[in-house]
Amino acid sequence: MDNRGYGRLWRIFLVEISLVLLIFALGAFVGILSNNNRLIEAEMLSHARAHIKDIILVRRWNASYGGVYVEKRDGVVSSPYLKDPDITSTSGVVYTLKNPALMTRELSEIAEKEGDYHIHLTSRKLRNPHNTPDPWEKNALLAFEIGIKEVSTIVTTGSGTQFRYMVPLLVEQKCLECHEDQGYKEGDVRGGVSVSFDITHIQKEIEQNRLLLIVLTVVLFVLLLGVVYLFVSKLHQRLSEALTKLNEMATTDALTGLSNRRHFFNQMASEVNRHRRHKRDLSCIFMDLDHFKKINDEHGHATGDATLRSVGQLLRKRCRTEDICARYGGEEMVILLPETAQAKAQEVAEDLRQQLAEMAVPLPTGGTLHLTASFGVASLSGDSSRWSTASDDLLSRADQAVYRAKDQGRNRVVVAEENPG
Ligand code: GH3
Ligand code: MG
Ligand code: MG
Repeated sequence: MDNRGYGRLWRIFLVEISLVLLIFALGAFVGILSNNNRLIEAEMLSHARAHIKDIILVRRWNASYGGVYVEKRDGVVSSPYLKDPDITSTSGVVYTLKNPALMTRELSEIAEKEGDYHIHLTSRKLRNPHNTPDPWEKNALLAFEIGIKEVSTIVTTGSGTQFRYMVPLLVEQKCLECHEDQGYKEGDVRGGVSVSFDITHIQKEIEQNRLLLIVLTVVLFVLLLGVVYLFVSKLHQRLSEALTKLNEMATTDALTGLSNRRHFFNQMASEVNRHRRHKRDLSCIFMDLDHFKKINDEHGHATGDATLRSVGQLLRKRCRTEDICARYGGEEMVILLPETAQAKAQEVAEDLRQQLAEMAVPLPTGGTLHLTASFGVASLSGDSSRWSTASDDLLSRADQAVYRAKDQGRNRVVVAEENPG
């Protein structure tokens, strides 16, 4: 895979990891928020249940005595819904009856005055119009009739938000003393008792909580993404460097730093194609060091290697960037010159031959070593009508020219016949 392919792979990986982080952050946000809301609602519900329980206990206490009498002082009125609610003691003090319904209403008035909560008693069969259910309570009463035991809702109006809770009032034995005439029997739902309290301030806090959570989620997401991005880009950089090194190693000859044989053949194939398509000149110089075996024998293999390194350096310095300069094998080098005609290639080879002959390779024992090389030049002319010439042909013609150079006494350039038919 090349560097561009790698870059694309990393970008896809980054997008995928960002999506995973986004899903994680959103999941955390939704999870925490819904858990929070559930806890707050559970708290409000237990608050409402406690209120209702208190009311029901007091009503039960009142009902267990068949209602209680209170002294009818100034401002205390007798209930118009009770039959003979007043009694007079032997000392002439007047008392009036307060049954559970009256007591509930009066407790509700006190609670409301103090601004705590609102209690409302509702009846299915009305005696007191004050007990008329509102639409929400009507729905709750319908639910009770099908067996639902409690109903709670958060209601938002223009004036604020309220938590409403309601339970059914079932007819008990003691209730029948007053309510039997309404056709009730024990266990019937004869109404309900609801409690409502203001939760506007709680809703505001929930809203603030939600905003804080959104900010924290975004910060968490950005931080995680930043850390992952840094890590991934570092990794990407390291891998790209490794890939570049690997590519270099796969295409370069370790001793001379020139291209290796495999890379040379790949490049040559595409240059020959280019020559055919665009009718461009293409030349090849084959070079073989003269009597190299003797250098090894006389000065040792290490000096032979150092000499090959110096030759590699010279070729890299002399070649153009578009030329492909490779170590073909042992002490044989090859140079492919795109868009170069035979005459120019011959000039380059001659120049190289001279440079090489003038080069002095330092010896470890002191002194210097001189060497020469034989060169073969072959070309494919852009004007040629014979476009099918294979790359191997170009190379073998250059190689054969080297043989001729060797035969003719070495340290010379021999040009192969151009585009033989
Ligand atoms: P000529 O080409 O002029 O006919 O003579 P030559 O001595 O160069 O001939 P030949 O091609 O037979 O020998 C090439 C020598 O190059 C043989 C081998 O020991 C040496 N050689 C090949 N590769 C390396 C290398 O990597 N390092 C060293 N030190 N020597 C090498
Ligand atoms: Mg050789
Ligand atoms: Mg040789």
